Amino acid sequence: MTIGEKLYEGKAKILYATDNPDVLITHFKDDATAFNAQKKGQIEHKGEMNCAITTAIFQFLATKNVPTHFIAQIDPTQMQVVAVQILPIEVVVRNIAAGSLVKRTGLPLGTSLKQPIVEFFYKNDDLGDPLINNDHIELLNLATSAQVQQLRQMALSINQHLQELFDQCRLTLVDFKLEFGVDRQGKILLSDEISPDTCRLWDRDITDTQARIMDKDRFRQDLGKVDTAYREVMTRVQAIVLAMIS
Ligand code: UDP
Repeated sequence: MTIGEKLYEGKAKILYATDNPDVLITHFKDDATAFNAQKKGQIEHKGEMNCAITTAIFQFLATKNVPTHFIAQIDPTQMQVVAVQILPIEVVVRNIAAGSLVKRTGLPLGTSLKQPIVEFFYKNDDLGDPLINNDHIELLNLATSAQVQQLRQMALSINQHLQELFDQCRLTLVDFKLEFGVDRQGKILLSDEISPDTCRLWDRDITDTQARIMDKDRFRQDLGKVDTAYREVMTRVQAIVLAMIS
């Protein structure tokens, strides 16, 4: 399979065409951004680590019959994926209050939620990715109501599977963001990535509220040791998934 033209360059990844119209290549970059790209930097080896973590998690989810766009890892920073039309909706699942939920509701950071909640954000950099509800999605024609229902169900089921995985890694899954795409047959596939860029993960065995952070909040809050935290997540996730699938 030959790598073709660059189709899209985002903040953390580049998408390339291939000689097969149904297959694309995602390249993971070391670039890191936060606060709608107002803060920019690089995290050493982030591309490799997020490619490896996403690969392991998508392989794990495949064993749970979650349909994803993942085909294969072809290089330390590159994955072959099914060509999909990405829905312009970021789906966030939360188990514990943090980030924008704390700002929006006043719930103290770290509050365990009675049950997981699902939120939708409009993927639109110019508008700063605002929170939207089902009515906004219908109004803007971002997805059908049947698709929205399916996104919610898939997100909650993925949350259960990821909690099971991260529990075994001694990591608490605080919240995370998913993106979904629609393939040529109209089927919804989990797409994009699942990594410390898109999840909040707290080390179970550390009580200090800053030292326990194992995700992009270390970059957002200038806490240092960002690459060390990502590497630790990679090592733990790979060990569990490899033992499971081999
Ligand atoms: N998130 C993401 N991309 C975004 C916004 C959020 O991956 O553009 C992830 C973020 O890392 C966290 C979850 O989604 O795990 C919830 O983020 P939140 O709404 O709290 O926003 P934040 O305060 O992180 O900007």
